[in-house]
Amino acid sequence: MSAILGIDLGTTHSLVGVVDSGFPILLADAEGSRLTPSVAHYAKEGAVTVGARALRQRALDPERTVSSVKRLIGRRQGEGDWKPSYDLTGIGKTPVDVSADILRHLKNIAERALEMEVSRAVITVPAYFNDAQRQATKRAGELAGLTVERILSEPTAAALAYGLDKLEERKKIAVYDLGGGTFDISILEMRDGVFQVLATAGDTQLGGDDIDRAFADWIRSQGILPSLEIIKGKMPWLRDAAETAKKKLSSHDEVTIEIPFLDSQKHLSVRTTRTDLEKIALPLIERTRRHCLRALTDANLKPDQLDEVILVGGSTRMPLVRRIVADIFGKEPNISQNPDEAVAMGAVIQAGILSGSLRNVVLLDVTPLSLGIETFGGLMNVIIPRNTTLPCKAGEMFTNAVTNQSEMLIRVLQGERELAKDNWELGRIAVLFPSGPKGSARVGVQFSLDANGILQVLTRNTATKADTVLEIQSSAVNVDDAQVEQMIAESVDHAFEDMNERIWTESRLKGEELLVAVAEALAQCGTLLIEDELHKIKSCAAQVRDSINHEPHDVKKLKAANQSLDDATQSLAVLLVERAMEAALERKLG
Ligand code: ADP
Ligand code: MG
Repeated sequence: MSAILGIDLGTTHSLVGVVDSGFPILLADAEGSRLTPSVAHYAKEGAVTVGARALRQRALDPERTVSSVKRLIGRRQGEGDWKPSYDLTGIGKTPVDVSADILRHLKNIAERALEMEVSRAVITVPAYFNDAQRQATKRAGELAGLTVERILSEPTAAALAYGLDKLEERKKIAVYDLGGGTFDISILEMRDGVFQVLATAGDTQLGGDDIDRAFADWIRSQGILPSLEIIKGKMPWLRDAAETAKKKLSSHDEVTIEIPFLDSQKHLSVRTTRTDLEKIALPLIERTRRHCLRALTDANLKPDQLDEVILVGGSTRMPLVRRIVADIFGKEPNISQNPDEAVAMGAVIQAGILSGSLRNVVLLDVTPLSLGIETFGGLMNVIIPRNTTLPCKAGEMFTNAVTNQSEMLIRVLQGERELAKDNWELGRIAVLFPSGPKGSARVGVQFSLDANGILQVLTRNTATKADTVLEIQSSAVNVDDAQVEQMIAESVDHAFEDMNERIWTESRLKGEELLVAVAEALAQCGTLLIEDELHKIKSCAAQVRDSINHEPHDVKKLKAANQSLDDATQSLAVLLVERAMEAALERKLG
């Protein structure tokens, strides 16, 4: 299978990655950067540059530098309320063309890093993207020479990156995504092994850029700067400086902003603190609160019904954002992943699953409890152990325990206890066979669990080749979590007594088996034994019988008695063999 790229085609930044040797990784461009600005510059002469180089053109040639084109893709002319500072029609490009140029650039980054051609990709889009926007994104991929294997929702991708695909059924999470220019909140629920979007809300005009703008204004208002007239053309520089300082203030308490040659004489130097920035950013970030509450209402949930809140988007690196999120949801957000890489990581993981280079983590399920059948003496015989990956198949051969038994009842059990009676019965099958001596019948039992957790129990009488099939719908997997926990806890609690009980039962079965065999042998050739031997065997057999019936059970005593009886019957066994050989010889001669 050929490699599939995972691509986060972001409003401000894009990333690309792939699963390499089983690990999802993000790929860096020639300058070592994994974040590619989603910016394209179209020179009058026709040259196209994308990424960091295009971003440097923005201050010089703003009319021909296209950014945030994601806000325009898949929309009809004039639809939406965002007005770009550039004129796409004038440049002669559509939003799909520009997106294709960005995607082609990402494809090149990947091919350079991997030293091979790649032509397949998974691309992420916001959860609220409609069909037209998704189709347009797909077309952009195709224009860039990529087969788009899947369009994946950004919050779902983020959840994958956070490893939340392993969440149990019905668990609910909130994905809070504050990027450069947009804010999205999504509530997801795990259903049948995949995420369902319960609700989305957000603000397409709110993000880190707004914080930069407000911060830049504040810096200017500090009064150290020349008049507004002079500074007008320099605003992009000031904004870049503000963004750089903002990012540093996520990990530092204080930063000095230096902008050389803001005008011919002045050199700007402003000391800023995190407290200054937080004062400016607070009203902007507070605007996300009502969207979060709205999404919760739409999903019909209370904050405490969420199992996890995860952070996505570069702006969630701000400590203030984390505090506000914790306050909105009444729970500390999960910050275990890089917020600006989580969506791309998720796209890579999904791509890895599709290409087969990662195991299918999304649909992967395991048996929560062991499955087996009851065997002689009421013991649990495990056929598929707990935590086995689905789908799976396993079987065993069984025989009749008693002479002239003509029916065997197979009880299908689930649980972790040693004794059948302590486990749950899922169903039973009666297998019929012609009566015969003990051990003459052969019954094969096979358990197969499909990917959906449906258990099929097949029993086959090997003599008659008659099959019986019992199907147990999903009960193998759909067990209540609490019940599973209880079952396991009980099996641990009772491990010692359970084990003793099992050893006792096994010894008792062995003893009973020996007694029957000895009685039969004595009937056949007891007369050939010398008196002493006969006496010894009889007293050993009595010991076994006594131990079996003795209360309380003494496993050690029974085991010793079994052993003595076994030893005492050595000469009897030899006699039996001799007898059998003589008989065979006679038959031959006769
Ligand atoms: P998008 O999904 O819109 O492309 P990103 O997730 O890449 O956006 O986020 C970009 C935003 O994150 C920018 O506004 C950037 O300034 C901001 N950002 C990145 N790193 C930090 C940081 N350390 N502290 C605060 N903001 C940051
Ligand atoms: Mg994003």
